Amino acid sequence: MSIPNRLGAPEPTWTHDVDVIVLGSGAAGLSAALAARPVRDVLVVTKDVLSAGSTAWAQGGLAGVLGPTDSLQHHVADTLAAGAGLCDEGVVRRLVEEAPRAIRYLMRLGAAFDPDADGRGVALTREGGHSHNRIVHSGGDQSGREVQRTLDQSAIAAGVEVMEWSFALDLLVGQNANGQRQTAGVRIAVTDAAGHVFSVGDVTARAVVLATGGYGQIFASTSNPPAVTGDGLAMALRAGLAVTDAEFVQFHPTVMWRGPDARGQQALVSEAVRGEGAILFDAAGRRVMEGVHPQEDLAPRDVVAAAISARMAEAPAGVDDHVYLDATHLGERFYERFPSITAACRDAGIDPACERIPVAPAAHYACGGISADLDGRTAMTGLFAVGEVSATGVHGANRLASNSLTESVVAGTNLGRDLEWELPERVDPGEAPDGTEALLEPERRRDVRSAMSHNVGVLRHAGSLTAAVEQLHAVAGKATVGVTPSRDAWEATNVLTVAAAVAAAAKTRTESRGCHRRTDYGESRDIWLTHLGVALQDGEIAVTGVPPGA
Ligand SMILES: Cc1cc2nc3c(=O)[nH]c(=O)nc-3n(C[C@H](O)[C@H](O)[C@H](O)COP(=O)(O)OP(=O)(O)OC[C@H]3O[C@@H](n4cnc5c(N)ncnc54)[C@H](O)[C@@H]3O)c2cc1C
Repeated sequence: MSIPNRLGAPEPTWTHDVDVIVLGSGAAGLSAALAARPVRDVLVVTKDVLSAGSTAWAQGGLAGVLGPTDSLQHHVADTLAAGAGLCDEGVVRRLVEEAPRAIRYLMRLGAAFDPDADGRGVALTREGGHSHNRIVHSGGDQSGREVQRTLDQSAIAAGVEVMEWSFALDLLVGQNANGQRQTAGVRIAVTDAAGHVFSVGDVTARAVVLATGGYGQIFASTSNPPAVTGDGLAMALRAGLAVTDAEFVQFHPTVMWRGPDARGQQALVSEAVRGEGAILFDAAGRRVMEGVHPQEDLAPRDVVAAAISARMAEAPAGVDDHVYLDATHLGERFYERFPSITAACRDAGIDPACERIPVAPAAHYACGGISADLDGRTAMTGLFAVGEVSATGVHGANRLASNSLTESVVAGTNLGRDLEWELPERVDPGEAPDGTEALLEPERRRDVRSAMSHNVGVLRHAGSLTAAVEQLHAVAGKATVGVTPSRDAWEATNVLTVAAAVAAAAKTRTESRGCHRRTDYGESRDIWLTHLGVALQDGEIAVTGVPPGA
């Protein structure tokens, strides 16, 4: 396929050395930076402004057991049920136990979560797949913005050094005293706001923290902001690490439908709206979720997204690309409870208090990622991964709503504390790896995203997945050394790299499980109670961990 194994960039002209470099400034990266800072030099490198990742967009909130009728066991059971057999129960249990402390920690840092009716505690709401009310939120549906604001202010006040508009290109890898490959630092490009290169430099560090978020932007339809292009995963693949569970992309069932030509980030209509009683209807006025699942409109996301996709395929009343969410029973209370969604609706000329909202599924969350534990440790010494870029075993084949912000804060803080205590030994960066340095023209990103949305969406099958692999192969063939290095070109190349990994894994997994739904293999198969790995070898995608007989 010939995927580049290094991003083309001008030669480095400067160096910098720190104890800990954190790539990404969402909930995970800033939690790690803040916790490590008291005794370490910590540099946060982020390719845009601090709040450009998914964190600031989160609407629903953070899951944690805080209510008197809830229990840790219920939260564990709900998470395992959503994860469809691929969660690591021990890791889930640890997350659930640490979640209430993490939420209280954010409150001590100054996060203002919405109060309950008598003003003595925090209000708790429910989202799909949760058996109890356990989601704390802020400003109604502006929970992520409050988490981002709190962590931005806390990290800066603590003296964390920040480089905005700085793009992490590739890991620098050396060899330690045991002869093992170890991360030694990161090559960074400083850009202007348009992504043109000012300079390139090497930052050496004893710990490199990948906190670059997910990869929703590999799809044409996504709730993720433009910065979420899978860079950390592409970087890890180029450094020889495998990506786990890449096929498990969670599609949010209800992203606002803005017409057949809408592209890029689309406004999310949070699950919390269904938590407050909203109901899905098709264009012919029939309910979508009735009889599909015992929890009906509050069934887990994969169930709702698949039911909507199947109903759209039937084209009721001639409409095959969206359904409707009816929250009119809330009347004008909608405006106060969901101010961001109200603004997005008004932007589209819809009044949610008296009109149904057109919605469709769109790529939302990457359940897979770089294998790491809940302290951020990966297979490579010196390299740590936290937040959506990681695969810790918490989400399995499908994430339970609002577990991800909690996981980002828990894993980020755990890692930061560990790094405060102890750092890996320093290693010198070795020679730059041999191999192609080609880049993809930024315009080619459209071809990748279109191939993914058409063929690797909510409902997949062998034919569509083969078509995706072939189309991506053709796009990879167009990567050349003559492309001018820029943020757009690096992102396009990373988007291709990650898309190829996701398509290959989805094609290999011949079953339906969690958020991976195949119309040609409608059921889960016991032989697939296992994790797939995807690696980059000599420019080709290689899938590992395929069970015998699959
Ligand atoms: C619309 C929306 C609503 C959501 N609602 C919820 C919710 O209610 N509850 C919940 O738990 N989860 C929710 N999620 C998911 C959740 O927001 C994310 O999983 C979580 O915020 C991920 O945090 P993170 O720190 O790992 O990554 P992000 O917040 O995405 O941050 C990634 C950071 O990495 C930077 N970066 C990326 N590439 C590079 C590079 N090459 N060089 C330098 N910097 C780079 C980005 O600019 C950004 O700063 C939602 C997501 C979206 C999009």
